[in-house]
Amino acid sequence: MKDENIQAIRGMSDVLPSQAHLWEYFEDTVRAWLQSYGYLNIRTPILEKTELFVRSIGETTDIVEKQMYTFTDQLNGESLTLRPEGTASCVRAVLQHNLLYPGPQRLYYSGPMFRHERPQQGRYRQFHQIGVEALGFPGPDIDAEHIIMCTRLWNKFGLRDIKLQINTLGSMDCRARYRERLKKYLVSFGSKLDEAVRNRVERNPLRVLDSKDPALQPIISDAPRLLDDLDEASRKHFEDLQVMLRHAGIEFEIAPRLVRGLDYYNLTVFEWTTDKLGAQGTLCAGGRYDGLVEQMSGKSTPACGYAMGIERLLALLQEGAPAAQPADVYLVHQGEAADKLALKFAEKLRDSGIHVILHCGGSSFKSQMKRADASGARFAVIIGDDEAQSQQASLKPLREAGEQIRAGLKEIADMLRKRHV
Ligand code: ATP
Ligand code: MG
Repeated sequence: MKDENIQAIRGMSDVLPSQAHLWEYFEDTVRAWLQSYGYLNIRTPILEKTELFVRSIGETTDIVEKQMYTFTDQLNGESLTLRPEGTASCVRAVLQHNLLYPGPQRLYYSGPMFRHERPQQGRYRQFHQIGVEALGFPGPDIDAEHIIMCTRLWNKFGLRDIKLQINTLGSMDCRARYRERLKKYLVSFGSKLDEAVRNRVERNPLRVLDSKDPALQPIISDAPRLLDDLDEASRKHFEDLQVMLRHAGIEFEIAPRLVRGLDYYNLTVFEWTTDKLGAQGTLCAGGRYDGLVEQMSGKSTPACGYAMGIERLLALLQEGAPAAQPADVYLVHQGEAADKLALKFAEKLRDSGIHVILHCGGSSFKSQMKRADASGARFAVIIGDDEAQSQQASLKPLREAGEQIRAGLKEIADMLRKRHV
């Protein structure tokens, strides 16, 4: 019996060439945009010690409780986890390599993240994020920079109707006070809350606000607001941020119950959403995490960051993106001398920036020409024995009207260079 084909793991997708050019366009645009704000790239391993995520994201969060790919290294018994997000690794690397010694750092990362969620449109088990972290900045100017730079990116991609919501979680003290207030409020619902929620109220009441359960929404929308009990410094931070955003002409809405799903946030939190993607409408989210570096045994360092989901952004981008660029030339060749010459000539053309597909695997002129046509290339360059003997090639336009021309190799290269942009 023939074995079944092995399929990719549920919730983890292949990006095929027909889609990959969109990813490359996205990545190129994003890289240039990040550079224009002075952010530097950092690349950390995909696998980390489980402890890193438990300590940073928080033991009672959905991610740590239910969504991590955690396993034991069979060789040394160590517990390892595929990263569910990028901030923890970034902070770990910054501390490990003393990157903050010379001063604050603006960093970005990009790559796959892993969360064991129920796969659906816009929600995957392997997904990709671009993340930005600014460490050593007390804000709110850097908070404003993060929001302003996102706006620029949406504009670059021509994305409209993306809404910004902001909130403040206040200082650690405000948060602790609020936690108790919220807990009291939630406990008052008693058995109207199911056991899982009651459990959550005890362990991490703020997380209840982050729930997507429709039954909880009325309770959440009447919950006390952290905003109503801010200390002076937290209130000022939030107000100053709003002044900066208004000054930059950025529209926003204050969402008093926006808390984010990770425990390390304080003060500013924000989310960008669209209603074009159904339930999975959050495109980008972040905020301040002033306590995290110290919590990871570093020197107390204020910080702010955010991450965007690439798959969700690409789903919006589909229409506006440029088409994939075919090669300039498909090089057709046949005969011993021609094969050798073609190999060299293809390299020569590439030296001057021309994109060349060299036919490989032999076959007749006719079938090579068919391949040339199917490749989408603008020109076929043809080298047969005749051409090889006279150190010439023939040039045939494939996408526009025009005669086939035969000329010396240098002349052909010049012609292609002139017509190539
Ligand atoms: P959501 O509320 O949609 O679960 P989140 O709050 O868990 O998102 P973050 O941890 O803040 O998300 O990650 C930042 C961004 O990464 C999200 O706004 C989203 O665009 C994207 N993202 C998060 N989880 C997934 C996933 N499972 N599949 C695809 N994209 C995701
Ligand atoms: Mg989530």
